[in-house]
Amino acid sequence: MAFDSVLGHERLKDSLLRTIDRRRLPPALLFCGPDGVGKRTLALAVARGLLCARGAGEPCEACSSCVRIQRGVHPDVRLIAPERDSIKVERARDLVHEICAVPYEGRAHVFIIDDAHCLTEEAANALLKGLEEPPATSNVILVTASPQSLLPTIRSRCQVVRFSALSPSIVARRLQETAGISEQEARMRAQLGDGSLGAALALESEGRGRLRERLLDLLERVEKMTMIERLESAQQMADADVDLALTVLRSLLRDIETLRCGASVLLNLDVVDRLRALARGDLGRRALSLAETIGEMRRALRGNANRLMVMDLLLGALHRDVELHDSAPA
Ligand SMILES: [Zn+2]
Repeated sequence: MAFDSVLGHERLKDSLLRTIDRRRLPPALLFCGPDGVGKRTLALAVARGLLCARGAGEPCEACSSCVRIQRGVHPDVRLIAPERDSIKVERARDLVHEICAVPYEGRAHVFIIDDAHCLTEEAANALLKGLEEPPATSNVILVTASPQSLLPTIRSRCQVVRFSALSPSIVARRLQETAGISEQEARMRAQLGDGSLGAALALESEGRGRLRERLLDLLERVEKMTMIERLESAQQMADADVDLALTVLRSLLRDIETLRCGASVLLNLDVVDRLRALARGDLGRRALSLAETIGEMRRALRGNANRLMVMDLLLGALHRDVELHDSAPA
């Protein structure tokens, strides 16, 4: 069932299902919480719950509505995502137009705005009109890992639904079940993913291979890098997928620490020789505390800390310019 397929968040799923069942779902919802914990998936489950041909409530997954929502082709369910990191005013205006109209065929009209923090200020102001008094058939769900970046006027018009990070044991079980990963590796990945299934899964993607190569190269050079080179690297990291970069970097540091302690269960077994060389150097002695610092940085970034500033601090910590206890912004 759609709601069951979303990992964890049991109480939250129950209460959403109950409000759909009673047709009391608030017209504007704000789903916020860490990336990769199921916010968008649950928003789509809500859409199915509202539009299922068998009636509002737990969706059947088999009717034409459920199937088309699953495939992303239902005319009454719109999923809006940023284009080049922003959702511009033109799109917001079109959206308001649709929000104020009646559904095409179903009894509800669902608008899911993913990464809603990417709305430009102009777009957010335009969207306000759609959130003021939407028709009873329209439901808007804003999804974001960074709710504090939304205009307060947008936030105040939404009922806030907070998602917490998933417990590592839940993530590990899912990895074992769906990705066929060994128990030990699943547990390691779940820890590194910090309660995000998305991050734990991303540890194996194709882009991750290239990223890891760049980060490994960075670890090998960082102690000799000049200030300018470090600033350039920090900028490059801030421009990329920071969350993934930090997850991968942490997996490398974790392996370096593991090798230093003489253990052999590694996440990056194919580059063991390079990791072993790093474990013998100064970085080896600092790997554990650096990995912890990275965990703190990821949490700071979820709290909307400045990406470039955090990356500057990270490069400084890797280079040993910055004392570790100063390197994680509050
Ligand atoms: Zn259905």
